[in-house]
Amino acid sequence: MIKMTKETVTIDGITLTLYRKNIKNMYLRILPPDGEVKVSAPLFMSDREISDFVKSRKEWILKNQRKIHENDINAPLKYRNGETHYLWGKEYTLQLISNEKIKHVVIDEEKSVMYLPIPKRSTIEKRKKILNEFYRAQMKMAIPQVLEKCTKIVGKAPSEVKVRSMKNWGNCNQNKRITLNLNLAKKDPICLEYVMIHELCHLIEFNHGKKFKNLMDRFCPNWKKIKKVLNE
Ligand SMILES: [Zn+2]
Repeated sequence: MIKMTKETVTIDGITLTLYRKNIKNMYLRILPPDGEVKVSAPLFMSDREISDFVKSRKEWILKNQRKIHENDINAPLKYRNGETHYLWGKEYTLQLISNEKIKHVVIDEEKSVMYLPIPKRSTIEKRKKILNEFYRAQMKMAIPQVLEKCTKIVGKAPSEVKVRSMKNWGNCNQNKRITLNLNLAKKDPICLEYVMIHELCHLIEFNHGKKFKNLMDRFCPNWKKIKKVLNE
């Protein structure tokens, strides 16, 4: 005889743990600290009924997940359900998934959801590392095209472009190597272009003096505006 089943399902962008038990009514809970959603349903209730139930409570779920995190709105990121994260200037709601089949971050454009696959009981550091690897991969995908475009604009090419987690947005060293901050993947794509042009200009002018600013005005006329967006 079946007593209880447990599975992870995603309904309308909400990832939840579904328990089927010997109960009469369906109920839903949102648990701190992650805003994890747990739904308990009668053993033989149809998938359709469960799905409709969750969909009808979607707004309420998202609101309550936000509420769970509201106390520390200015606190550092915790990588919890309902948290807002960014990719190329767009906002996404984070949903944690622990599904062995999914190893990488998955983006649902339509629902504006970012799924972060995490091992059970993972630390904030571990979650951050998984997401950073995703941003690094996004940067690696975006760079060739931006580099080609900006190299043409500035007329200079670097010896190498690297991506890493760093304090500044970019850096250009004496060996003509450009290093870019992986967090640029969170910003509007124009920011990556601006930083690339800035670093390429260092291949002409090493400091940030008047000559450098003239180069920026010539190669990236909107650079002051973009710089503001970047540092928001
Ligand atoms: Zn500089």
